[in-house]
Amino acid sequence: MTIFQSIGCGLFAFSVAISMAQAQATRDITLSVDLTDAPRKLIHATETMAVTPGPLTLVYPEWIPGEHGPTGPIVNMAGFIVVAGGANGQPCTTAADATLKWERDLVDMYAFHLTVPANCTSLSMKVDFLATDAPVGFTAGASTNENLAILSWNTVVVYPEGVNPADVRVTPSVTLPSAWQFGTALQRIDAPVGAAQTYTVSFHPVSLETLVDSPVLAGKYFREIELAADVTPKHFLDLAADGPEDLNIPPDRVADFSRLVREAGALYQSRHYSQYHFLVTLSDSVAHFGLEHHESSDDRVAPRTFIENDQFVMSGHLLPHEFTHSWNGKYRRPAGLATSNYQQPMKGDLLWVYEGLTEYLGDVLAVRSGIWTPEQYRGRLAEKAAQFDNWPGRTWRDLQDTATAAQVLYGASGGWANWRRDTDFYDESELVWLDVDTTIRKMTNGAKSLDDFLAKFEGLGGNTGPTMVPYTFDDVVAGLNAVVPNDWSGFLRQRLDTNQSRAPLGGIENGGYKLSYAPRPNPWSEMENTLAGTVDFWASLGLEVETAGAIDDVLKGGPADEAGLGPGMRLVAVNGRGFTPALLRAAINDAEGSGPEVELIVENAGYYKVLKVDYHGGERYPFLERVTAAPDLLDAILAPRVTQPR
Ligand SMILES: [Zn+2]
Repeated sequence: MTIFQSIGCGLFAFSVAISMAQAQATRDITLSVDLTDAPRKLIHATETMAVTPGPLTLVYPEWIPGEHGPTGPIVNMAGFIVVAGGANGQPCTTAADATLKWERDLVDMYAFHLTVPANCTSLSMKVDFLATDAPVGFTAGASTNENLAILSWNTVVVYPEGVNPADVRVTPSVTLPSAWQFGTALQRIDAPVGAAQTYTVSFHPVSLETLVDSPVLAGKYFREIELAADVTPKHFLDLAADGPEDLNIPPDRVADFSRLVREAGALYQSRHYSQYHFLVTLSDSVAHFGLEHHESSDDRVAPRTFIENDQFVMSGHLLPHEFTHSWNGKYRRPAGLATSNYQQPMKGDLLWVYEGLTEYLGDVLAVRSGIWTPEQYRGRLAEKAAQFDNWPGRTWRDLQDTATAAQVLYGASGGWANWRRDTDFYDESELVWLDVDTTIRKMTNGAKSLDDFLAKFEGLGGNTGPTMVPYTFDDVVAGLNAVVPNDWSGFLRQRLDTNQSRAPLGGIENGGYKLSYAPRPNPWSEMENTLAGTVDFWASLGLEVETAGAIDDVLKGGPADEAGLGPGMRLVAVNGRGFTPALLRAAINDAEGSGPEVELIVENAGYYKVLKVDYHGGERYPFLERVTAAPDLLDAILAPRVTQPR
């Protein structure tokens, strides 16, 4: 026992000494990215790194902050070539063995093992990222086209295993076509250096953590607009589009975003960035989503979003949501998501705070900023409340599990989503946080609100740089108790852990409204369905269908389900006539009361059948009905905090 113990301890000490030495040596990286081939879906990177001789494992980022899952696009990492060098770039070995053979780990697909030869103190590496995926998903999806590119640095960097990215110093640069401009939260060094066709921008060194948190949006059709010039630190709206016509954002919409900047400052009583850039891509060549960063956000929307009114309204929550994440998600972060590097798995159990509270606040800020009217907010809220009320998946899966399982739910398909449940920790948690807000307001007779919680929780420490303060469930409960004592732990756990059939509607009811149904869609739902090309028969037949007849989803246990319909089928005819949404509406109305069943012909992969839907309740669409005896707390919540011209 003694001899094995002695040898074991010696080996352990030796291996720690090696990794400590490597960790020490590799705190300096130079990363040069060439975006001039981005229109051809190729992003080239050259990385140099100080190392010490001996075994070394390099890793490619796997768990991407904000994406809450192992989404690092390793499959599209290509051309990984590692060359060893000596001091000042001098050769350290013969040319034949300077190119190092790496070996991928048999289990961890993101890890590459190699040995740095004696006398070699640096590595020069090539990494290409193939930006060839379809415009779906998040940053791993399409991110370039002929005239623009979004650089997510995690797609082109490797770093030593076991090292905390916060401890690694990177000197980054980007080479761009001469006709392109760019926006980023990184700070450039002096003027760009360039030739006729391309130019290179060097940035001040930052930690690897900050670099991965600071994407670059670049493009030929580019515009940068300063927001709320009276506010310090500075805020910018950076736009890259497919063409110049999509950059003509009207002045009143710029004013909305300036108000957003001021309203967020009033709400969170702090700012945790040295400057903030909304990096907005206006293109269908990229997937449409938002990804938060500490000092910027990567916001990807349809080309006409800032031009067409309906598109602007329908995307109105995106920038307020991602901006809120600078506080709630980046500065304050659940302990399970505050991982020490990009290889450590994340735990999503508090995503109902990270995303759910952000969803609530983003929507509230959209109204306080003037992007939405209170009526639009209520229409959207009614839709969310109706979706989750009697949502079939509630019978087997609680809200908490949707957060815990976030890393698999983000990629889930739409069919039978009501039975599986989805990333419900966004929208259902919004109802929970409205419940919290209205409960505080009622308990304190309007003297306190969730705003008081936010001022302390998100504003902890006042104005800071982009740093991070983790929290636990108990910290959230303590913060709420500091505003008004209550059994907040029981309040939240009841809503998180119970398989109750009804949605948490307490916030709507406390707010002076109730969820009701009318025979016509509320204006929000109508606008949303028109833009999406869908027709909503969810609260009547239990059916969501595209205008051309494709069935997107069927409510489990609803009339359409009972009749035998399923997602993936196609509606061909209604009561013997070729399907149109208007004909189906008419058939539902004819069936109301004691009318005839709705007869459908459906096609399923080339097979046709006739199905009869036994439903007689007429058209039904959700809306929020005012309960006049109660005070309107929703109006109080949605009122601007800042006195400013609207
Ligand atoms: Zn979010």
